Amino acid sequence: MRLRCCWPPEVLTPAGLQGQVCLRDFTTWKVGGPAEWLAEPADARELVQLLAWGHRQGLALRSIGAGSNLLVADQGVAGLTLCLRRLQGSQLDGSTGLVEAHAGEPIPTLARKAARLGLAGLEWAVGIPGTVGGAVVMNAGAQGGCIADCLESVRLLDPADPEATVELPAAALGFAYRHSRLQQEPWVVVGARFRLQSGHDPAAVSARTSANLHSRTSSQPYQQPSCGSVFRNPEPLKAGRLIEELALKGLRIGDAEVSPLHANFIVNRGQARAADIAALIAMVQERVQRAHGIGLETEVKRLGF
Ligand SMILES: Cc1cc2nc3c(=O)[nH]c(=O)nc-3n(C[C@H](O)[C@H](O)[C@H](O)COP(=O)(O)OP(=O)(O)OC[C@H]3O[C@@H](n4cnc5c(N)ncnc54)[C@H](O)[C@@H]3O)c2cc1C
Repeated sequence: MRLRCCWPPEVLTPAGLQGQVCLRDFTTWKVGGPAEWLAEPADARELVQLLAWGHRQGLALRSIGAGSNLLVADQGVAGLTLCLRRLQGSQLDGSTGLVEAHAGEPIPTLARKAARLGLAGLEWAVGIPGTVGGAVVMNAGAQGGCIADCLESVRLLDPADPEATVELPAAALGFAYRHSRLQQEPWVVVGARFRLQSGHDPAAVSARTSANLHSRTSSQPYQQPSCGSVFRNPEPLKAGRLIEELALKGLRIGDAEVSPLHANFIVNRGQARAADIAALIAMVQERVQRAHGIGLETEVKRLGF
């Protein structure tokens, strides 16, 4: 892919915009080439300016959070990539259970804050290294819970008309297993409102939260770069179980490896390229298809492929 970067950019270019920024450090897999244009808005005003600029330039737009569910192509990504991880902050009401969070708030931070106030409902979220925005888009979940269980509404910006904030109820978002309608829409999630259960013992909620984190870090390769589970579970079966049964743990292409600890994780042993990971994904899919007749689908989102 040829990437276009005219520098200096046109006058009236929004502050903070950079050309040709490597996205490696914007993903937990630590792979990926440059974004043609990248910005990390510090507040809602900067975000609106960036969206309006990108729309005027006719650029393709991608919003990312912590990059914990992304495979970015080695060739990079054309258009404007907006990373929302600086839009942090949340307000939690310990008596009503109402929670308002900005899109860039780390979901583990929100889970810890809720636990300290005795708000139950996000104990499962503590081990998910994403942002509120990414968690809503993905309907992230673990240990029997998911975002759709406690989400009331989201605040969105439409890149074609970024001055107007739109609020949609959770019921309008088509939530299903690791799916929301937002995955097909160009909208940018800027915030979310949750309703948690109040009146619980903070120590008990905190203990459940910590236990969930411990059970994950002891059974999943948290010390190595990854994107969490690569494949969706072909319910009621588990993708990890199918891969493990074929003795594919430890299978490698370059520095991409099917984790010896958890078969649904592909880890980067250091110098993996996105192409290595993509090839390993295809190889695992082909082996599972051949052995079980099941086509594994990926949970991870690809950018620039
Ligand atoms: C070690 C590890 C463990 C994990 N465990 C789990 C788990 O148990 N359960 C689970 O569900 N996931 C898990 N994940 C995957 C990942 O953390 C979640 O999918 C998370 O919700 C992604 O959030 P993010 O902010 O990183 O989003 P990104 O990876 O940055 O983006 C994911 C998708 O959301 C879109 N997006 C992100 N932010 C916005 C926004 N503000 N507006 C519009 N679109 C946006 C992106 O375009 C992309 O399509 C794990 C990942 C890792 C690395």
